[in-house]
Amino acid sequence: PPRALTRHDPGTIAAWDADHVIHPWESMGEEVTDRVVAAKAEGIHLYNAEGRRFIDGPGGMWCMQIGYGRREMADAIAEQAMKLAYHSPWAFASEPSALLARKLAQMTPGDLNSVFFTTGGSSAVDTALRFAQFYNNLRGRPEKKLFLARERGYHGSTYLAASVTGKDRWKNPMDVERRLVRFLPDINPYHRAPGQSEADWCDEKVEDLARAIRVEGADTIAAFIAEPILASGGVIVPPEGYLRRCAELCRAHDILFIADEVVTGFGRLGHWFASEAVFGVVPDIITCAKGLTSGYVPLGAAIISDRLIAEISGEDRAEVLFKNGYTYSGHPVCCAAALTSIEIIEREGLLEHVRRVAPHFQARLRDLARHEIVGDVRGMGLLGCVEGTARPDLPEERRFAIDQHFGELVDAACEARGLIVRPLLNMCVFSPPLIISEGEIDEMFDILDAAIGEVQ
Ligand code: PLP
Repeated sequence: PPRALTRHDPGTIAAWDADHVIHPWESMGEEVTDRVVAAKAEGIHLYNAEGRRFIDGPGGMWCMQIGYGRREMADAIAEQAMKLAYHSPWAFASEPSALLARKLAQMTPGDLNSVFFTTGGSSAVDTALRFAQFYNNLRGRPEKKLFLARERGYHGSTYLAASVTGKDRWKNPMDVERRLVRFLPDINPYHRAPGQSEADWCDEKVEDLARAIRVEGADTIAAFIAEPILASGGVIVPPEGYLRRCAELCRAHDILFIADEVVTGFGRLGHWFASEAVFGVVPDIITCAKGLTSGYVPLGAAIISDRLIAEISGEDRAEVLFKNGYTYSGHPVCCAAALTSIEIIEREGLLEHVRRVAPHFQARLRDLARHEIVGDVRGMGLLGCVEGTARPDLPEERRFAIDQHFGELVDAACEARGLIVRPLLNMCVFSPPLIISEGEIDEMFDILDAAIGEVQ
């Protein structure tokens, strides 16, 4: 057997982990004592502590753009750590954050030129929402405080980002701030009425926003926050024209449109950002994280339009402070990593590569729809989701297993064959590293195909 890749025995690591680490979304009911111990990664592959190799289907957590094990990233991180490991973002400017902010301003659409650096996606969303309220307060519109968000949307785990998250919100025993938020119904076209066209579905979904604005009153609403594609809600691609019409409605009603591009940014759909390039929308604020550093170190950003900043700036505003900031805002090591990751994406033509291989990825994904237990397949770029649906004539126990645990069942069958997928109830989602080749896409979908066949 291959030599273990860890100093300690993998079973011991898993036991220490079970005893002491609280994982995200940790179950209070069952202790997981056999978690896979990740020990090493290279390219699109992750190795467990025993040295077994897996294709990383979800690309970490939708973040591993350039692939693992890049010496150039390690060098950039080490070099910056030795040169200037940290500086107060309150007191100083530095080359990495200034260069990166300038670069992001060039990459984002329209006049989105001002960058607030954060520690990840949640804090980027938090910053964007706080800015929307700050902006309205300064415009003498303090009553404009509400946020519109969507069912199935995911925006993070800080108190405010969790509050605008529309997943499982009624079942969740965690406190969230609901007074500030109104949720628009699910936009998943898979759930539309039989026979309803995509155009009609789009009209209905835009009307959901129009109705919320009518019911609440535009005078009370600060911002509408939306992922261009709802990622962890199940890779839900909006109907044609939906985002553009929503953004227009927001603009007409003086409501800020915040595009949460934490997943869709940095090449996932073949462009730096999806809002304008894919959906024809210039948002007021874009939030990003994850692929910004290809997951090597944590970093996020809220990128704000000049128009908004200009509206609330002035000589008489010297005493007015945007009191939002993190010890690690614009962390020089993280900014240096982001600059290097962006440079690699540019040098290796990874945006073009994604545009080239995405049709094959999507074709292989759609081919999975022939399985009887697959209800829907959907995606765009290098994002994909397979949703399991049980036939009504199956025994109840089997129906329940598929409708609730399709993701886990497929995950287990994939793991045995060397592929990691991300199970989400009755779905599996994919966002492999952008460097994935057509041959590796085939390898991934061959495994998935066999796994679904086995679960069936
Ligand atoms: N926004 C979106 C669309 C996300 O998918 C996520 C994380 O998955 C977040 C925000 C939160 O980012 P983070 O986990 O880096 O705080």
